[in-house]
Amino acid sequence: MVRVRLAPSPTGNLHIGTARTAVFNWLFARHNQGLFLLRIEDTDRQRSKAEYTDNIIEGLEWLGLTWDESPVIQSHRVAVHKGAIEQLLAEGKAYRCYVNETELNELRAHQKSTNQAPRYDNRHRDLIREQQQTFIAEGREPVIRFRIEDEAVIEWDDMIRGPMRWKGSDLGGDMVIARQASINHIGDPLYNLVVVIDDALMGITHVIRGEDHIANTAKQIQIYKALGLPCPQFAHTPLILNQESRKLSKRDGVTSINDFRNMGYNATSLANYMTLLGWSPPNGMEERFSLQEAAKVFDFNRVNKAGAKFDWDKLNWLNSQTLHELTSTELLDQLRPAWQAKGWITDRHQSDENIVWQKDLCHLLRTSLTILSHGIEQALPFFEPCNINDEAWKQLSCYTSQLSLRQLLKELEVTSWDGSDLAIAKNILKVTCENTGVKKGIVMKSLRAALLGSLQGPDLLTTWSLLARVGKDQFRIRRCL
Ligand code: GLU
Repeated sequence: MVRVRLAPSPTGNLHIGTARTAVFNWLFARHNQGLFLLRIEDTDRQRSKAEYTDNIIEGLEWLGLTWDESPVIQSHRVAVHKGAIEQLLAEGKAYRCYVNETELNELRAHQKSTNQAPRYDNRHRDLIREQQQTFIAEGREPVIRFRIEDEAVIEWDDMIRGPMRWKGSDLGGDMVIARQASINHIGDPLYNLVVVIDDALMGITHVIRGEDHIANTAKQIQIYKALGLPCPQFAHTPLILNQESRKLSKRDGVTSINDFRNMGYNATSLANYMTLLGWSPPNGMEERFSLQEAAKVFDFNRVNKAGAKFDWDKLNWLNSQTLHELTSTELLDQLRPAWQAKGWITDRHQSDENIVWQKDLCHLLRTSLTILSHGIEQALPFFEPCNINDEAWKQLSCYTSQLSLRQLLKELEVTSWDGSDLAIAKNILKVTCENTGVKKGIVMKSLRAALLGSLQGPDLLTTWSLLARVGKDQFRIRRCL
């Protein structure tokens, strides 16, 4: 059975790159009726924080990326990792290395001056007892290194990138697998060792992660072999790139799932968009889909090797489509907490009339929203006395605007329109035009400027009717005269 995992390090909030890796893992698991597991890689004690673990878990849940077994907490398994290192040491596949920082710096400087790639020269591989004793007496703290033979040939068939081939000599010399060791202690086991032990013991069949881990994969394969563990299959997903075709990073601003959520993107559209970052649906399938729909057809043949450029327009389009399909009731449910937080509506009992008005407002705004937070910005003039922007003032200062709005107000006072019958509003507009000779377009533009403080906005008659129903239209017009 397919078993895949996401192995985030809780050293920051859930990042879009990690979330996209989660999406690909989840889709692959679901497509193959396998299991998707979660392992929190919290062994870096300085940088790992419980609040980041919470954020990662919440973010994955929000996106609908459910996992199938209790999350594995890596720091609880240190004894197991140390046991594996003991075995490697006992079999002579790992050793204590006493080279200190000064010596390493000298080595690096020498390699640089002779144009060699930086690598450890394996000088403490076969220390004799007396040499070790001397280093210990000097108070040196060893690391534990895993032997990587230069002649080794490391090959795997990557599910995305095809056949891969590395030479042992490309891997920078014997690899450090534990830090802060001593003659009697293993110290702190490090990522490349730990990940192999955990993946093997969790029965992971396919390791799906970002292409920045390719060199790690080559190293890890050597550890699988040394411990006689079955090697999983690997898939290295393309990176997410910014507009300059560089790896998307914190400097690009919005990168955590929290950021997208706070901006008002919905989980379905974001998950949909992340799936498209590198994967394309088969012919005949639309670009809009749910994770469940994508899982039916997902495979790595349709994952691109090249980096995937982050495309805001596409994300916005997907998100707006999802918002436009909501019913007024659903949209109101989503906007209610924000409207309440603004003090625009109460969370206590509301009259039926209020609720109908709020739903009608949602109906009006729905098709102009790209992200949910637009439903706060655009609702503002319906709840608060909005400012009038420069463009709107310019319009309102025209003679024809003043003339027509005065006339319109007069008509409004005599008809005392309550906002319910749109035919009455249409008639008021018509009579205003007739009595003033001002063109309908100008009258409407002026009315919009007065009601919303802006020349842009949703359907004018509906806007007017909503404001009239709560008795706000006449005041808005009067303040502009
Ligand atoms: N903790 C590693 C990371 O966040 C996991 C990489 C892996 O999937 O092996 O990059």
